[in-house]
Amino acid sequence: MSFFSGSAASHAAQAHPSMVSYGQRVSPALVRLLSVLGYGRVFVRAQGMHLWDHSGQEYLDFLSAFGTCNLGHSHPGLLAQVQQFLTQQVPNLMHVGPQPLAAELATELARLTQEQLPMTLFSNSGSEAVEAALKLARIATGRQAFLFCAGGYHGNNLGALAVMSDARMRRPFEPLLPGCTQIPYGKIDALAAALRKHKPAALLLEPIQGEGGVVVPEAGYLQACKQLCARHGSLLILDEVQTGIGRTGKMFAYQHEGVVPDILVLAKALGGGLLPIGATLARRDIIERAYGAMDRVDLHGTTMAGNALACAAAVATLRIVQEERLCENAAAMGTLLQTLLREQLAEHPLVHSIRGRGLLVGIVLGRSEEKAGLIERLLPGLAAPVTRKLLGQWLSLRLLERGIIAQPATHRWDVLKLVPPLTVQPAQIQRVVSTVSEVLSSYQSSLPLLRDVVLRAGGQLWPTLGEP
Ligand code: PMP
Repeated sequence: MSFFSGSAASHAAQAHPSMVSYGQRVSPALVRLLSVLGYGRVFVRAQGMHLWDHSGQEYLDFLSAFGTCNLGHSHPGLLAQVQQFLTQQVPNLMHVGPQPLAAELATELARLTQEQLPMTLFSNSGSEAVEAALKLARIATGRQAFLFCAGGYHGNNLGALAVMSDARMRRPFEPLLPGCTQIPYGKIDALAAALRKHKPAALLLEPIQGEGGVVVPEAGYLQACKQLCARHGSLLILDEVQTGIGRTGKMFAYQHEGVVPDILVLAKALGGGLLPIGATLARRDIIERAYGAMDRVDLHGTTMAGNALACAAAVATLRIVQEERLCENAAAMGTLLQTLLREQLAEHPLVHSIRGRGLLVGIVLGRSEEKAGLIERLLPGLAAPVTRKLLGQWLSLRLLERGIIAQPATHRWDVLKLVPPLTVQPAQIQRVVSTVSEVLSSYQSSLPLLRDVVLRAGGQLWPTLGEP
């Protein structure tokens, strides 16, 4: 979560009743954090690529709720499907018979994987779907250990935390699951050695790391993961909670690499950004071995999993993604976005590189060695942390003030992520690229950044110090 600013809006928002009651009843720390530098908008309307705050200000969404609103907000086809469902008196939950909409959704997911992952376990979030994958791998293989990758993000429940590398997020909750070993992402030799040593139930990783800073592994890496896992009797779990449902230009990111995981984890955009739903897809033999016997039928599950309303939203979402050719649009707009970013920012001294696939794009901030300037050479201990810790957050803040919503990656604040809905059009891409480059033009080195942040922080605490 960023700390943002915007003086006029923020002062109005501090008095906004939702901001006050959210702080009193839900998260005092979040509201405090939002107000540290004066960020204080309450968003009250969302349509397509846009959001509006309580003062009527319009914003272009290049965050999509961290890759969830792939259809854009309030998509009319999705709303119509849900509205129709609500008039039909369909039982949402009953638990004494199969849920027809869950069967329909699982059938469509199987078709989209070319029947290679024909079985689905449903849940309500990405973390739950990861949890289901871990349990499935243990029970199907009879093994206990897991391998996971540095920089990975898999969610916040205890199971998912055990396979997430970020120490700040894990430490307060330790001890977590034993037998979880971290390996470097993208390194085949390290994987081979760890598989030999630990004989894990599974290797869990993202095909492209999202919150780890939009890290795209080299071509062939996923293939090697699959082959090595197969050789050592371990399963390959791909977490596509963020990369799935068209985000990278194909329905699932693994389809770029000609490799099929043993278990695939989906959530976020599957519910169209409207309903919570998670799905853990797997090979038939894995599910049979795990839960195929009648005395094992209740070893995994949760009450709301596969509820009809969420499944109806997911069926509609998958239909819309295909009918509106959103994978194709994500591929084309992603190429345009990366091309324009490179054209406008490649020479910028504080831009290291641009990377990503489809509409999961990251601007890596901070100097590459060859661009290092005087300040960086004289004060490397100051300049590097300033760009690493501040520039991404600061950029987000300045973009927000210009009506654009974007955030740095959770584990890498030096990578600004651009993750718009898959419906984005060229003019919106052009606007974002030119706004990013306009904001960055004021920051040719770390010093003006430091000055502005200090002035802004001071200005919030003592308004007479003024704006940068
Ligand atoms: N896996 C990945 C790759 C994610 O990006 C996230 C959320 N950012 C999760 C799992 C956890 O999903 P959720 O927040 O729905 O629990």
